[in-house]
Amino acid sequence: MPELPEVETVRRGLERLVVGRRITAVDVFEAKSFPVGPGLLPPAGVVGARIVAARRRAKVLILDLDNEYSLVGHLKMTGQLVVRGPEDWGAGHPTDSLLGELPDRSTRIDFRLDADSHLFFNDQRKFGWVKAIPTPMVEQLPFIASLGPEPLDAAGFPEFQRRAARHRRTTVKAVLLNQQVVSGIGNIYADESLWAVRVNPARPLAEVSDRKLRQLFQAASDVMTLSIELGGSTDRNYVDAEGNRGAYLGFANVFRRQGQPCHRCGTAIVKTKVAGRGTHYCPRCQRR
Ligand SMILES: [Zn+2]
Repeated sequence: MPELPEVETVRRGLERLVVGRRITAVDVFEAKSFPVGPGLLPPAGVVGARIVAARRRAKVLILDLDNEYSLVGHLKMTGQLVVRGPEDWGAGHPTDSLLGELPDRSTRIDFRLDADSHLFFNDQRKFGWVKAIPTPMVEQLPFIASLGPEPLDAAGFPEFQRRAARHRRTTVKAVLLNQQVVSGIGNIYADESLWAVRVNPARPLAEVSDRKLRQLFQAASDVMTLSIELGGSTDRNYVDAEGNRGAYLGFANVFRRQGQPCHRCGTAIVKTKVAGRGTHYCPRCQRR
């Protein structure tokens, strides 16, 4: 599953290359990748529409069209988006399809665009999807409406604080991973931001001061921003817009660094389990 910075990398590529393009035809090779039903526009309904914005909400990508509908999509495990045209580009699950001739066996949808371009949705395992829904409905989709604020939006802190207050007896790491409290923080970013502010991942939220909580929200934003700048975390599967593997994990302070010295104090990083997830921390800097 991609982490938020990878999906943001995809969004930025789409913003650069497909916003402003008009959809001239849609070829659907796998019906379940573009579901139709009540409230959903069939693929033919987006033909003729122009793409006016590329947005993201947590890990959901949104392409707004000028016909009051939006294409909403999730890459899931093996999805990738590839543009072929004046400039070739691809991002998502790294397979040869990012660079090869398309459509190929993994292509589920081919959005043909003006200016001799194509936007291909490839997805080997077919868990990903694209739906065309009315733009005002996007924020009301159940999995979007329930999402907490994102750390990348600094103004979201009071809302994060309010939602977190309902989980005072929970470990701080579990709270960071709870998408209804704060959205988009995956395992890597939770561990890295807790190390940055010297908070033990297993500490109950009730023992984290408001000041520390604010620092934590900011640290999550900083570490995700750094990762986006470096092209994503590349947790095995993700590559950036130019098909390069992201570099972030090479700069991680704790994630997958168990047994190696803490960059701050030299103590060996420990791996344990918190909130049911592999958790990395410095037993000295993050004593509590
Ligand atoms: Zn340390």
